[in-house]
Amino acid sequence: MSNNSFSSTSEIGNTTEDHLVEKNTQISLPSIVIIGAGFGGLQAARALGNAPVKVTVIDRTNHHLFQPLLYQVATAALSPADISAPVRHVLRNQKNTNVILAEVAGIDVANKHVLMHDKSLSYDYLIIATGARENYFGHDEWRSLAPGLKSIEDATTIRRKVLLSFELAEQESDPERVKELLTFIVVGAGATGVELAGAIAEISHKALAADFRHIDPKQARILLIEAGPRILPAFPEALSRKAHRELVKMGVEVQVGLAVSNIDTSGVTAAGEHIGSQTVIWTAGVQASQAGQWLGNETDRAGRVKVSEYLTIPDHPEVFVIGDTALNMQDGRPLPGVAPVAMQQGRYTAATIKQRITGKPVLPFRYHDKGSMATVGRSFAIVKLGPLQISGFPAWVTWMAVHIMYLIGFQNRLLVMMQWAWAFLTFQRRARLITHMNLFMLPVELHSKPELKDDAPPTAVDEAGDALQAQSL
Ligand SMILES: Cc1cc2nc3c(=O)[nH]c(=O)nc-3n(C[C@H](O)[C@H](O)[C@H](O)COP(=O)(O)OP(=O)(O)OC[C@H]3O[C@@H](n4cnc5c(N)ncnc54)[C@H](O)[C@@H]3O)c2cc1C
Repeated sequence: MSNNSFSSTSEIGNTTEDHLVEKNTQISLPSIVIIGAGFGGLQAARALGNAPVKVTVIDRTNHHLFQPLLYQVATAALSPADISAPVRHVLRNQKNTNVILAEVAGIDVANKHVLMHDKSLSYDYLIIATGARENYFGHDEWRSLAPGLKSIEDATTIRRKVLLSFELAEQESDPERVKELLTFIVVGAGATGVELAGAIAEISHKALAADFRHIDPKQARILLIEAGPRILPAFPEALSRKAHRELVKMGVEVQVGLAVSNIDTSGVTAAGEHIGSQTVIWTAGVQASQAGQWLGNETDRAGRVKVSEYLTIPDHPEVFVIGDTALNMQDGRPLPGVAPVAMQQGRYTAATIKQRITGKPVLPFRYHDKGSMATVGRSFAIVKLGPLQISGFPAWVTWMAVHIMYLIGFQNRLLVMMQWAWAFLTFQRRARLITHMNLFMLPVELHSKPELKDDAPPTAVDEAGDALQAQSL
């Protein structure tokens, strides 16, 4: 049995590690290391809370993130803290659990060690729940031009780009540039793309409508581009059609069957046509985390690690891979990359480890699909619950209740409910902050702005940029 000890390769800063080694060597309990405190990892950790085991949760961020509401941070409806919770705080009452803020860089499966950049950690059981990231399908150069939506940083980047576009358009005299600044393109019409496009339409046509003097935010063009034949392909066709109609009603231009062939600093190219835009957002595909490379195991094209019906990898029943990083076949089809799959797998893995430790037999994992939902704007959603399909306001109430229920932390639930109620009544968005702005991040003029000569007077855009920067401090 491993004693969950650290071995550090770092020369400095190992006081904390020594302390942990000392603490851990006193206890000889099975050590369970969980990589990732997202939906899957956190459920596993919580389910092991009262077990006679030593749990270590490693995450490269200090917070659990409720990704389904990220689009609301990106569109200024909620603040980052409303949809995240410090992992250490969430697990504070679990005396058998350590939390480590670190990035895992590899796994030594033969010797049962998790490798971080400056230290390693031994395990008896390992749960890998490292999620997924955007897939640019071989065009990684698009990453900086068209951010995806996976983290708080992504959400605040998108928020900055959207809000800044309006600010710069307000100060722009060239109508063509104004058009480009007020064109927002979302590539990929899965649930995230649809939710984002709807929210950007709302922010442009409602929340900002009266706040500017030289531009009319209602003139903003919001384009949702999808390469497939319809939006929301994971939903039944009838629901997808209803969501499509609702988006159009809200002023979103939906283009299906259109593949983007290029993205550059001035917009996107699709079907040979260039569409000028300073804000392109990528929600067209996901790729599993790097766990497949760490393990050297078989993966599918999206990098998901093939797991057995017990969610383990071949020859290593002590290594579990769950959530978006796992390729788990059920009834001949891969389970989808959604939160309920990761959560159920997290709970199953914890239960399986407890059974194994006590020598009891374990059953294979079986996912119970409780339904899926997506929202369009502030009062319309589509919901599929088994054979039941609902849309419109009742579906939105269901969507809202489910999301509130699964948010971590009572305070977050209360805050989000209050802000939704306010937004519902007023159309306003409270989190309209342009943060982390510096001149290099400005999406338009300052990218291409000529060097100022010493004696040249600053342009209106320079001044606007400086003023905006000062405001953001
Ligand atoms: C914008 C968006 C909207 C979504 N909407 C919905 C929805 O409405 N409904 C739904 O069911 N699902 C939705 N999903 C999908 C859902 O969020 C995922 O399926 C779910 O988060 C997967 O859980 P997970 O535990 O596998 O990974 P995650 O929840 O992504 O957690 C992975 C964790 O691993 C950590 N990590 C990654 N790599 C490392 C490393 N090398 N070292 C240390 N830590 C690491 C990360 O920091 C993260 O905390 C959405 C996803 C996104 C991005």
